Amino acid sequence: MPPLIEVTHPKGIYLPEADLWLDPHRGKERAFVSHAHSDHAARHALTICSEITHQLMVVRKTAKKSGAVMTPRMREVFEWEGWELRLLPAGHITGSAMLHLTRKADGATLLYTGDYKLRQGLSAERCELMQADTLIMETTFGLPKYRFPAAEAVIAQMLEFVRETLAAGGIPVLLGYSLGKAQEILCALRDSKLPVMVHSSVARITEVLAPHLSALPEWRLFDAKEAAGHVLVFPPGSKLELPGMRTMVLSGWALQPSAKYRYGVDVALPLSDHADHPELLETVERVKPRRIYLVHGATREFASELRSMGHDARALGAEDQLELALQAS
Ligand SMILES: [Zn+2]
Repeated sequence: MPPLIEVTHPKGIYLPEADLWLDPHRGKERAFVSHAHSDHAARHALTICSEITHQLMVVRKTAKKSGAVMTPRMREVFEWEGWELRLLPAGHITGSAMLHLTRKADGATLLYTGDYKLRQGLSAERCELMQADTLIMETTFGLPKYRFPAAEAVIAQMLEFVRETLAAGGIPVLLGYSLGKAQEILCALRDSKLPVMVHSSVARITEVLAPHLSALPEWRLFDAKEAAGHVLVFPPGSKLELPGMRTMVLSGWALQPSAKYRYGVDVALPLSDHADHPELLETVERVKPRRIYLVHGATREFASELRSMGHDARALGAEDQLELALQAS
């Protein structure tokens, strides 16, 4: 068996043998960026990402013009300094990618998931996993209590809310992040044939992604004077005041009973672009890693659960979290 690929966490996930950072928060020499959410969007001298992620970074002005960008095609082997790189669809948002690495000298392999989900969504390619000796995975929803209901059932509830609100003469407002959730909501609205208006930030991103989304409905830019009779798609936290409006947030955190109050909305529904606890376990089963590193959310709890099942699992960056806790106290 080849030795494992070294993974360190000096305030960010780093592969010293490849001199490559994975989704670093600060600008680095060489970085893989799994997707275009702003928490993964620092500026780097060399960025490796999917073509769609690069387009989104340009639109969101997070791509540095002078920095070099490599955009390998999904699933294609990309030879790089003694490594084979593969980008694989992560199923999180449009253009999101996992990174699979093979060290050519000895065949050692590593899979970094970035944000991902195994469930098939409407706006992202279905996730494709690949076997790896070392697995670095996100565990945002890593506790056993996090189990998402089937997306079809959630979308049916969303459409019922929309129809009931319109029938009562009100304006339904669906809240989801401008990149990712908003496109998922739009695709879910298509078959309803209802007229849709979107916030300008949703419009900007949906225009970029439109060529990659087959299920988009007709939509127009929000106009308060003509909003009556429309379904509105806005980012959470929008300061919107319209007579008769009813608000619904779509987020994985809606599983928490307090979500409705925390978001200040009428209804909260659990539609997530992350893997839930059963999907995290399924990922480990399918990737068959010899060592697992966990990032984001319930890393320690999920690591100890995996260890109790006989896996070599470690919470990555636990030292950093301790440091942050000390700074905050
Ligand atoms: Zn994300």
